[in-house]
Amino acid sequence: MKNNSQHPKPEDGEKRKLKKPVICYPNKSIKIDRWSDYQVARKDLDKIDEIIIPPRDAKCFEVKAGNFFRIESIDGPQVGDLNLFNLDNYDEKFYSGKTRALHGTHLSSKDQMWSSFPYLRPLVTITYDTLDWYGFDQDGGSVHDVIGTRCDPYTKNLLSNDQYHFCCHSNLTRALVNEKNLEQKEAESLVHDVLNVFMCTGFTNDTHQYFMKASPVRPGDYIEFFAELDLLGVLSACPGGDCSAEHSSDAANCYPLKVSIFNSNSNVLKDWESPPISKYNQSHGF
Ligand SMILES: [Zn+2]
Repeated sequence: MKNNSQHPKPEDGEKRKLKKPVICYPNKSIKIDRWSDYQVARKDLDKIDEIIIPPRDAKCFEVKAGNFFRIESIDGPQVGDLNLFNLDNYDEKFYSGKTRALHGTHLSSKDQMWSSFPYLRPLVTITYDTLDWYGFDQDGGSVHDVIGTRCDPYTKNLLSNDQYHFCCHSNLTRALVNEKNLEQKEAESLVHDVLNVFMCTGFTNDTHQYFMKASPVRPGDYIEFFAELDLLGVLSACPGGDCSAEHSSDAANCYPLKVSIFNSNSNVLKDWESPPISKYNQSHGF
């Protein structure tokens, strides 16, 4: 938190701090070649499947490459924790940290969710977001973050000594065990940091600590994704509800979330193909 400094500022300290920031990962070279086709395709969608995620629980869903899916708020404001995998290879999964490095702290339309090394390719492209009006608020907060992790019973225990079993980490683990027939240990090791769907978060101005505030999401709001690969998604309806007060407990009002999967009737993407994995040759200097 940088508030326990043991060193006086050097004489030229202020001058050193005045250097201009340089974007670490200029993302102008990441082009979504078919963006306008995605927008055409999404105008003529047929719903082919629907999954309701009960509060304080998680469920799996599968989406074929080239289809769309939406995560929708129903009944009341609710935050969701999303994990994504390549359906045919769970080793390729969502990489929150690199997605953050490429797109910033919070995602919206035209951002992509990238997969882990050595694959590093988009798993999805976000094609529509009814909360895109929110931008950033006066506290620097925004929605759909990739700066948080997933709420989990280990941190809960570290901070309060409790045994709580319905954090998103546990919910995601149970969904993988129950629906994908994985051993608990294997399932837990596959769970990864999430896209915090609908969650409103940021870093405080003074200590730069991670904060949350009541999600602006309302029933009917949704975020929509184009599946770049055959995907396994796992979504948890966070025990924090709208995350206005606390998470990792049964205190908050919680609501279900809806996942809808769509096929497009448009043939504009007829010749579209899944993106290839990273072209880096993986020699690492050996
Ligand atoms: Zn959670």
